[in-house]
Amino acid sequence: MMEKYDVIIIGAGPGGMTSALYASRANLSVMMIDRGIYGGQMNNTAEIENYPGFKSILGPDLAKEMYESSTNFGAKYEYGTVESIEDKGDSKIVNTDQGSYEAGAVIIGTGSQYRKLGVPGEDEYGGRGVSYCAVCDGAFFKNREVVVVGGGDSAISEALYLAGLASKVTVIHRRDQLRAQKVIQDRAFANDKIEFVWDTNVTEVVGDNMKVTGVKTINNKTNEEGEIAASGVFIYVGNNPMTEPFSNLNITDEKGWIKTNERMETSVKGIFAIGDVREKELRQVTTAVGDGGIAGQNAFEYVSSLH
Ligand code: NAP
Repeated sequence: MMEKYDVIIIGAGPGGMTSALYASRANLSVMMIDRGIYGGQMNNTAEIENYPGFKSILGPDLAKEMYESSTNFGAKYEYGTVESIEDKGDSKIVNTDQGSYEAGAVIIGTGSQYRKLGVPGEDEYGGRGVSYCAVCDGAFFKNREVVVVGGGDSAISEALYLAGLASKVTVIHRRDQLRAQKVIQDRAFANDKIEFVWDTNVTEVVGDNMKVTGVKTINNKTNEEGEIAASGVFIYVGNNPMTEPFSNLNITDEKGWIKTNERMETSVKGIFAIGDVREKELRQVTTAVGDGGIAGQNAFEYVSSLH
């Protein structure tokens, strides 16, 4: 016999945990499944200062607070990697590497995964100087020089975090303007330890076979080639949606983000999507939480209509 829940939530990020809170508080049986620790990308974020209620909080600390709220009304949390969802009309089968479960409604909150730069040396020096998580690896580069690649919120927030550890942070951006929010940009421009290299692409991560020693670059306006010495290379060039297990459902746009309406409903009845995995404008903890509340409530209405 398959374990059965009213609602299964795939992904225990801020959106998934909020859906779990809403659906379980409405007295539904709820399970969250995540292939890692709850919190999602909050765990890779040093400081969050745009989540109301906390002037500033460490990402993993906010994750823990949310987890406690999300399980307060009985929602369960299980490890597992979801491999597919089968739509059987009034019930959904969620297949994972740990077994299969049945649900009335499914909420997908799998978020996104960092994008690779795709240059020589990137994979070779993974874990030996190349990183996608300053909070996880920044401490290895205390008083050393590091490079950050990218110009979005992640690159600039994490450059600021790294400036508190490293002796110098060089941000390499492919344009001459940052994409990051202005408040973060201003802070980075005012930080003596952060330097910017504009209109420049990284063409290779170089090293001494053991560890990273720097990056090769090319200025995309002048074609001038260069090399920047660094012990660490932190890559923040955006994210791709984690929607591969759901490709059979035809619920994504051409780039793989899941399309929903304002009720967080996908085109498949009883399957909802929330947070960063959605096709949306603003990917933030606050907006994921908003999506999560809406989906939790609408999953409750949907499941109630089945009885
Ligand atoms: P993002 O906003 O997509 O920015 C990616 C950056 O990488 C852009 O500057 C982009 O350059 C650059 N880039 C992309 N492909 C590249 C390549 N092949 N080579 C070199 N550079 C490349 O990604 P993100 O910064 O990870 O943010 C993801 C989402 O999370 C966003 O919605 C963001 O607002 C949100 N977020 C928010 C916060 C916060 O509020 N504190 C913190 C982190 C993330 P172009 O600018 O030229 O496109």
